Amino acid sequence: MGWSAAFAQTKSTRADSIVVFAPHPDDEVIGCAGIIMQALARGARVKVVAITSGDGFPAAAAGVAHKAVDQVGPEDFFALSRFRQMQSRAALGILGGKDNDLIVLGYPDGDLGNLYESTNDKVIRQQFTKKNETYASIQKDYHTSVHGRPAAYKRSSVLGDLVELLTTLQPTEIYVTDGTDGHIDHRAAFWFVRDAAKQVGYKGAFYTYLVHGLPAWPFPTGVTPNLPFESRKVDGEVAPRALPWPPPRRVPLTPVEAQRKLKSIQAHDIPVVGMPQHQSEMESFVKSEEVFWTPLASSR
Ligand SMILES: [Zn+2]
Repeated sequence: MGWSAAFAQTKSTRADSIVVFAPHPDDEVIGCAGIIMQALARGARVKVVAITSGDGFPAAAAGVAHKAVDQVGPEDFFALSRFRQMQSRAALGILGGKDNDLIVLGYPDGDLGNLYESTNDKVIRQQFTKKNETYASIQKDYHTSVHGRPAAYKRSSVLGDLVELLTTLQPTEIYVTDGTDGHIDHRAAFWFVRDAAKQVGYKGAFYTYLVHGLPAWPFPTGVTPNLPFESRKVDGEVAPRALPWPPPRRVPLTPVEAQRKLKSIQAHDIPVVGMPQHQSEMESFVKSEEVFWTPLASSR
């Protein structure tokens, strides 16, 4: 068999297909901008799945609406979710993706932990928008696009959408926030995606990325495209907490790729009332690499 025949055979096996799960619109570029741009550059299929609408951050809703934090109402949270989803779309474009590579499930920002723990499958109403079913502001939410109607905010809906997505997309690599993350939505995103992967008998690679690492992350701080991520001691404790270091997977970024990652994070700039450091914290994820953990590897 000649080289071209062998190559054709390789090509005809399961395609390279990556799904990046983001609890909120912005996590995908903070953790995986490099993974996304490298995958798109080699012709892989990439889907970014925003699990929530990004509609639960009062200081950001206030910043976008030019209001005080105690003055914001549901319409301001809808405006925020629209704003953040447009940012995800623009950031994906910077990385080489298309508009329809972004999927918005439209679950409630801030309530993913409540949904995961709601084993009686109770319907939850989000406190800021007063919504109790999925929606997306700039396109149809996933459930509506497939089933013609939104899904109720309940545990079985989230799991059902994720199982269906994994079945349809047949990814070879999954990325999701880590189960040790300091933000409950990020931990719950991990639990939900892990459970959905188990339910479909997923056999591909499963990686996690860290956004709100405890007790501090990332290090060094600042835009440092020529430096790798580092572990450090904070108040006598090793950071990041409860994760092996060095991380099991480190993906190098070229200086050009790191600059592109910076642009994709800058596409997520939001004026957050009372948090002027918010943008520079996100930009501190611009490093000479991206790092990933494999929490399910030992159980397989
Ligand atoms: Zn997030």
